[in-house]
Amino acid sequence: MKGHLKPMRRLGLIGGMSAESTTTYYQLLNQGVRARLGGLHSAELLLWSVDFAPIAQMQAAGDWARAGAQLAQAAHVLERAGAEAVLICANTMHLVADQVAAAVSVPLIHIGDATAGALVELGVKRPLLLATRFTMEERFYRARLEDYGLEPMIPGDGARERLHAIIYDELCQGVIDMGSRTAVMAMIERGRAEGADSVIFGCTEIGLLLEPESVGLPVVDSALAHVTAALDFALAAQA
Ligand code: GLU
Repeated sequence: MKGHLKPMRRLGLIGGMSAESTTTYYQLLNQGVRARLGGLHSAELLLWSVDFAPIAQMQAAGDWARAGAQLAQAAHVLERAGAEAVLICANTMHLVADQVAAAVSVPLIHIGDATAGALVELGVKRPLLLATRFTMEERFYRARLEDYGLEPMIPGDGARERLHAIIYDELCQGVIDMGSRTAVMAMIERGRAEGADSVIFGCTEIGLLLEPESVGLPVVDSALAHVTAALDFALAAQA
């Protein structure tokens, strides 16, 4: 048990995208605080958990501005309630990260920065990005990784479609299917054959389907990297 501690910073989570991985965030944040501070310590958190169905509809319709406005409103409320930083607990909705960041005066801890930082620390260069089609195909996420000198790769057309369906139709709905696991492992094998030197679990639910140890390449799980960056921020005053 450490001696006298300064208060930790309070984090504001925008979750529910999906609720399955927000549970992971809640567990990892609390486990992380306990690991770093010991004893009965747990994370200071505020959570705004959205109904994902209308957000997913807006994503599919390309109505990012409206989805972004909803998350920006959530961030604003979290700040007013006392959040000292905001996290969007998903990769895909970082497509509107600038809109959300503009709605608050506290920092937005960006999942792309956290993920890129963890990859750089591993010393890898060509990660295979496994994510929703939006995250794999739009520029916002890969461009963020490229800013760190990384050269992200993505699976081929058919594999991207399959993975997108696995995420929305299964993982976000709490379904873990062994056939899907095999399919994603095959995508990784293909990526390795094409030159990938690492893998990004670039969707916060992928860790529910695959254990990093079974992948055979270095893995960065974006949810874990994001949580680690959030813990560094929350506990910076403790050092
Ligand atoms: N949680 C996922 C992600 O990290 C997918 C769900 C979503 O579209 O937000 O991207």
